[in-house]
Order: sequence, then structure tokens, then C-alpha cells
Amino acid sequence: MDGNARAARRVLLLGGTAEARELAVLLDGRPEFEVISSLAGRVAAPELPPGRTRVGGFGGPDELRAWLETERIDAVIDATHPFAARMTASAVAATSAANVPLLLLRRPGWIAGAQDDWRRVPSLRAAAANLPGKRVFLTTGRGSVTAFASDTTRWFLIRSVEPPTPPTPPHAHILLAKGPFEVKDEIALMRRHAIDTLVTKDSGGQMTAAKLTAARHLALPVIMIDRPPPPNAPTTSTAKSAAKWLFTQA
Ligand code: NAP
Repeated sequence: MDGNARAARRVLLLGGTAEARELAVLLDGRPEFEVISSLAGRVAAPELPPGRTRVGGFGGPDELRAWLETERIDAVIDATHPFAARMTASAVAATSAANVPLLLLRRPGWIAGAQDDWRRVPSLRAAAANLPGKRVFLTTGRGSVTAFASDTTRWFLIRSVEPPTPPTPPHAHILLAKGPFEVKDEIALMRRHAIDTLVTKDSGGQMTAAKLTAARHLALPVIMIDRPPPPNAPTTSTAKSAAKWLFTQA
């Protein structure tokens, strides 16, 4: 090795989002970094990013800290979903304990326009307690349907990538589908099922935003579940700026 050459910096990229994949693609083949992408393992056939991957939880913040030390990780980028609060809390605690720099990569939340009827609520439970209609399009993800399970008075169209975790509401149709979705298809779907209320998390991004445009078009109320409070850590919103940050961590 030439005397000036440096070992590649080892980066843990906590993923499960389009932004994480985008960053893995940007860093793929860069000699400066060796990236290990980490997935929770919830999806049966995940779209794996390029480069090295690992799948499954670490076992909590202490175990993550030990893993960071064993793997001699130089920097962590948490590009998990804005609602993956446990993983993010674990990353904040473990990187602080191991003295490893951490950056959060978070897509911005959605912003209502003048024509939108969005009703913001702080939690799934608050969403379940504040449904204005009787035929509800539930798009909050497979793990969140149980919050609506005791509702025997409404009918739910439940859309998720993987089958929802039981219990589910008694009157429901489950639709397994993965974005991106088109506005015209979302309008047709909502019309076909006579939907009168849309429930969503404030996930942000383009992949699933068409349902919001469709709801506006159909003048439907949207119950928008707010993101969990962000941790106190440096944050950026694009894969490009996250890659730039890595170069500053030399
Ligand atoms: P969570 O509640 O914050 O995580 C629960 C546990 O799963 C974590 O404590 C961790 O286990 C493990 N985990 C989560 N993300 C991981 C990752 N990238 N690599 C390794 N272990 C991970 O998260 P979640 O809401 O279940 O989300 C799971 C995954 O799905 C995340 O990767 C997230 O980006 C993605 N996702 C979530 C949503 C959503 O709405 N929540 C939507 C789209 C994609 P240990 O404590 O054992 O380390």
C-alpha cells in the first residue's frame, strides 16, 4: 500500500427506505467508504441495496454499541423511516456511548395545501378515536392496524405491503400493494370502495403521495398522524447531502 493511502471508512447505514437505497447507490464503489446497509427484516423479499448488507435487529442499544465497536464502525447514518422511532432512539444512544458520529437522513414531511382538509393527530390511538367517516382507507402500515381493531361500526380498506399484524377490524378488506401509486388509480380505488376518510402517517416522499392528491380531488378528510418527536441529532433530508456529510467525517 502506498504510504498516503487510507483505509476505507466503515459506515453503518440503517435503512428500509428509498433514501437509504439511494445513498447506498451513491456510495457504491467509492474507495473511501465501506458501507454496511442494515435492514430490519420485516419484508419477505426486500429490494436489497448494492454493497454489503445485514438483516435483523441488533438486540437493543447496548448490543448495537457492541456491534459498532466490534465492526470498527467510523460513522452511522440512520436513514430509517420517520416512524421507526425505536431504531432511531437505539442509534442515538449507541453512537453516543461508542463516540461514533451519527447523521439522520429524513425525508421532509408532507405539507397541506389550501384545498386540503387534513386533521393532524399525535398518534394512531388519536386517529382511531377521531374518524369522521364510516368507510375508511387505512394506509398506516402493517403494524398499526391493531389500533383500529375494536372498531365494529366502520368498514376499512387496509392497504399494506405485507399482511397486517392481527387483530384487524372485523369489517375490512385487505389490499396488499406497494407504491409508487398513480393519482388516477388512487381516485378510482377510493371511488370503487366509496371511501369517505383517508388515514395516513406523515411519511413524506413521492412514493405514496398520490393518495393525498386523490383525497383533495374527492374532497375527503385526511387524518394525518404526526411524526414522533425528532431526536436531538444532526439531520439532513437528501441522500446527496448525507454523502457530503460523510466526506466531512474524515
Ligand atoms: P422500529 O419500531 O423503530 O424498530 C423496531 C426494532 O426493529 C428496532 O428496535 C430494531 O431492533 C429493529 N430495526 C428497525 N429498523 C432496523 C434496521 N434498519 N436494521 C436493523 N434493525 C432494525 O422500526 P419499524 O417501524 O418496525 O420499522 C422497521 C423497518 O421498516 C425500518 O428499517 C424502517 O426504516 C422500515 N419502514 C418502517 C415504516 C414505518 O411506518 N414504521 C415504513 C416503511 C419502512 P433491535 O432493537 O433489536 O436492534
